[in-house]
Amino acid sequence: MSNRMTGVKRPAEAGTPDVALAFEGVGKHYGNAVGVDMLDLQIPAGELVTLIGPSGCGKSTTLRLAAGLERPDKGTLRVAGDVVADGRRFVHPEHRRVGLVFQDYALFPHMTVAQNIEFGLDRLQRSERRARVGEVLDLVRLAPLAGRYPHELSGGEQQRVALARALAPRPAVVLLDEPFSSLDESLRAQVRRDTVATLRETGTTGVLVTHDQTEALSLGTRVVVMRGGAIEQSDTPERVFERPATRFVASFMGDADFLPATLHNTILKCEIGVVSTDPGWANSDLKVDVVLRPHEVALHPDPQSLAQVSAIEYYGAFVLHHVRLASGRTLRSWQPHTVRYAVGTAVAVTVAAGTTPTLLLGDHAITAPPQAGPANVQAPSLPLPLS
Ligand code: ADP
Repeated sequence: MSNRMTGVKRPAEAGTPDVALAFEGVGKHYGNAVGVDMLDLQIPAGELVTLIGPSGCGKSTTLRLAAGLERPDKGTLRVAGDVVADGRRFVHPEHRRVGLVFQDYALFPHMTVAQNIEFGLDRLQRSERRARVGEVLDLVRLAPLAGRYPHELSGGEQQRVALARALAPRPAVVLLDEPFSSLDESLRAQVRRDTVATLRETGTTGVLVTHDQTEALSLGTRVVVMRGGAIEQSDTPERVFERPATRFVASFMGDADFLPATLHNTILKCEIGVVSTDPGWANSDLKVDVVLRPHEVALHPDPQSLAQVSAIEYYGAFVLHHVRLASGRTLRSWQPHTVRYAVGTAVAVTVAAGTTPTLLLGDHAITAPPQAGPANVQAPSLPLPLS
């Protein structure tokens, strides 16, 4: 991609401990394959950042670079202000103040819970080590299980040991690689809540890789969407979902349908009629695509309408209706479980009240008429709250 959208960079603060983890122009290639390309990302202390993107987009490479399991080809990496990798320096993982929680937890099977946690504390005196192990066992509510071996623990308990082991040396940042993916669905929600609570309680900065959109949105204070080795959007969960910066983010982070539309003198109109009017678009005359998510699309039966329900999917609390418009394009609409229009029902389609849909010019979101200048292309990222 030529115009990569990157996280906001504030060089002035990059070298301070307020930024727990900073990538500055970091590149990593594997032969001809791009791992990450010109990655700029700063993670302020105390944030929990979720990294998401399609398989092969560079999430693991980003985590492995931060951990010191890979060396960057170019750029600078800092942990709590200290350079840990650049053209000259390379700090090894054990000296980086970075904790790791792997997908399979990677606990030592021949060690007890307490011994697993104590493992990374060899630089402390014996008495300090014991005290610290006790503290983190209490933190993750595992003190009664201190003498057990990993095979004597449930999946959720193993995950808590892995988190405790990562937190024990008081790292500046904990990196979590799909930490919930091997847990049963029923356990996952609780373990997620516990993990986030533990990170918050200790004020620990976290970077969590996930392929699950709901997890990325619900856990992260910031969501970083990656694509092809670069950051597509780095933003709050609300903005990533409600104000996607690009067509890719709109369709990757939740269901989205796209309809060609015209913006003419404040009026945004597409096949289903006038979508919105906004004085900010005065004097505009543009062809755009409007992004509609299923919760923004309203339906009601109307025998006069040329739009028809083409399929329905029952999800329990909600029923997803697929609607074929006169043009042959399809929109999706969430309806409550009490509403189920049969396939073939003619329906009038409108945009739900209060919706301000995202507009795309080409593949990028716009928020104001383009003739006013490049500032109108939606900023991909919010400034980081460094204060
Ligand atoms: P993700 O974690 O998002 O699935 P990765 O960071 O694992 O993506 O991979 C990014 C790109 O780098 C992919 O094209 C992948 O094939 C490539 N890659 C990752 N690790 C290696 C490696 N050790 N050797 C060669 N290519 C690799």
